[in-house]
Amino acid sequence: MKISDILKAKRTVSFEFFPPKKEETEQVLFKTIKDLRKYNPDFVSVTYGAGGSTRDKTLEWTKCMKQEHDYSVMMHLTCVAASEQKIEAVTDSLTGLQVDNILALRGDMPDDMPKEDISDEFQYASDLVRYIRKTTGDKFSIGVAGYPEKHTEAKSMEADIESLKRKVDEGADFIITQLFFDNYHFYNYLEKVRAVGIDVPIIAGIMPILNLSQAVRFTQMCGATIPKPLVAKLDGATVEDQYKIGMEFAAKQCGGLWASGVEGLHFYTLNKYNATEELIKSVF
Ligand SMILES: Cc1cc2nc3c(=O)[nH]c(=O)nc-3n(C[C@H](O)[C@H](O)[C@H](O)COP(=O)(O)OP(=O)(O)OC[C@H]3O[C@@H](n4cnc5c(N)ncnc54)[C@H](O)[C@@H]3O)c2cc1C
Repeated sequence: MKISDILKAKRTVSFEFFPPKKEETEQVLFKTIKDLRKYNPDFVSVTYGAGGSTRDKTLEWTKCMKQEHDYSVMMHLTCVAASEQKIEAVTDSLTGLQVDNILALRGDMPDDMPKEDISDEFQYASDLVRYIRKTTGDKFSIGVAGYPEKHTEAKSMEADIESLKRKVDEGADFIITQLFFDNYHFYNYLEKVRAVGIDVPIIAGIMPILNLSQAVRFTQMCGATIPKPLVAKLDGATVEDQYKIGMEFAAKQCGGLWASGVEGLHFYTLNKYNATEELIKSVF
């Protein structure tokens, strides 16, 4: 089902997974997606490696989630270094799988990509949204990324929101945000985004902190910040206590967002069953 249609009827809860690299972790994901089915998320999504590096795996997991577990699925698709031909091959595959949703992203240039594999047909995610709309019309519901604390490369929040508007003007139906830990950033972003006339639904991206070092690594990569009082609480705590503190914080964060009327919560599950189940149970 198209996410744009689901969002017309209700607020969404969704789970994001990534294609594992090793066979043991693949088995964990098989079990996770099977066991999380009972929570009936409105959709699930599968990430796409930088420069298309996980293309086949992403398609395989997308197929598995759709056909074996009957989830509504969104596949992430990045355009950096991709050619029109490669993008069209992916949208054709998704059509064949009867997958209705794409998260259209620019992605980041992989350091190790051979020069001859790099195409410059797409510069920004807005080019990808335009291309998918041009070649497939309304076949897909298209989501794009938003950054409550600004994308790391953007000159200013205003410039970043202009870029977001371009993606929506090209035909994006909804926005999913980068992770954030202070709801203030989300509310502030929402106000600024609405002020420039962007009226599509905005789904909040949520990642519970399972341990401080991992959270620091993720936030350094994506430019999000962890509130200082939370860092102080986590710093020096045992691994078990860090998990407990992180989960309690995430449950409170989600509760606040839900109470404020957020249009959707998208959980970056990191393929973890226990943490995702615990969070869902404590929020709803
Ligand atoms: C929900 C979510 C899911 C993600 N999933 C994946 C994934 O599966 N795989 C993956 O590799 N990455 C993923 N990412 C990360 C994403 O690919 C990176 O953040 C990437 O650096 C930017 O992608 P984008 O689609 O936001 O790019 P864009 O929207 O193209 O923006 C990139 C930068 O360019 C600027 N910009 C845009 N248009 C213009 C313009 N016309 N002129 C000047 N500047 C402009 C923007 O302000 C921004 O700073 C995800 C991010 C989010 C939030």
